[in-house]
Amino acid sequence: MSGIRPTGFLHLGNYFGAIRNYVKMQEEFECYFMVADLHSLTTHPDTKELKGNVHRVLAENIACGLDPDKAAFYCQSHIYETSELYLYLNMLAYKGELEKTTTFKDKVRQSPDNVNAGLLTYPVLQTADIILHRASLVPVGKDQEQHLEMARNFVKRFNHRYGDVFPEPMAFNYSQELVKVPSLDGSGKMSKSENQMATLYLADDDEMIRKKVMKAKTDAGPTEPNSEKPEYISNLFLLMKLVSSQEVIEKYEADFNTCNIRYGDMKKQLAEDMVAFIAPIREKVDGILADDAYLRQVMEKGAEKARASASETMKLVREAIGLNYF
Ligand code: ADP
Repeated sequence: MSGIRPTGFLHLGNYFGAIRNYVKMQEEFECYFMVADLHSLTTHPDTKELKGNVHRVLAENIACGLDPDKAAFYCQSHIYETSELYLYLNMLAYKGELEKTTTFKDKVRQSPDNVNAGLLTYPVLQTADIILHRASLVPVGKDQEQHLEMARNFVKRFNHRYGDVFPEPMAFNYSQELVKVPSLDGSGKMSKSENQMATLYLADDDEMIRKKVMKAKTDAGPTEPNSEKPEYISNLFLLMKLVSSQEVIEKYEADFNTCNIRYGDMKKQLAEDMVAFIAPIREKVDGILADDAYLRQVMEKGAEKARASASETMKLVREAIGLNYF
């Protein structure tokens, strides 16, 4: 089980942190993937662009290989059981722990005028989404580690108080570690809303991709063989590892270690490899977005599968809590 908020164009971080794992997992597991539209209301109360964004997230995931016939792919707001479970879980979540959450503190800093209760209880709603299907594996990027730890705490509290209903959910990635795709300006991560010139979007055209990559921060190169890489340089290598061939990576590693690296050439190569990776996805997205009837069919089918699983869980939950009077 996992979800992505419809708050803008998807980027390379969403792809490598999340979607790439969805596409593999759908072959092996019973999967539920969701467009987290309710979550987006915590930071984007203006809904003028919501429908377009929901359609875009659906199309972008499908273009990346998510198959609505294999996984349940649905919109969060179509499953009312989520809101009911969220309410019960809110009784088990404490103000102090919610206020300590890193993402909450970041968002308070970013928009001090909109510190709403939904923002504070964001990890509770996220827990409801996950455990509604009694999911145990959650494919997410590294930025979600703390939320998953909170989800485990809420689950433990529920199970302790009302009996074992839920498995403890774990963050999941096919590689050894959770992925963080760095932004092109040498600090932070690629993200939908911040720092758009330092983030590569799946919708960027070829020229935009080249422009962004060529602007990435570099320096005059190392002066000692086998030096340690500064963070902005190791980030470039990290991006290269995502899209370039083994041969190309080895060449630039060797050039760096022998102090022969030409960052202009490295960025040109990286830009071309990014274009080759992103362009086919972008073209597929445009085709899917043009087909409203297909998108509607995807949402309806996904909601049907998600509702079946949700209503089974909620029967167990109401029973466990003691909300059964006849
Ligand atoms: P954003 O932070 O861009 O708004 P979301 O909060 O909707 O994205 O996250 C959707 C998924 O993408 C989550 O699983 C998250 O861990 C992953 N993700 C987002 N940014 C990155 C990144 N830079 N590197 C790795 N994974 C990321």
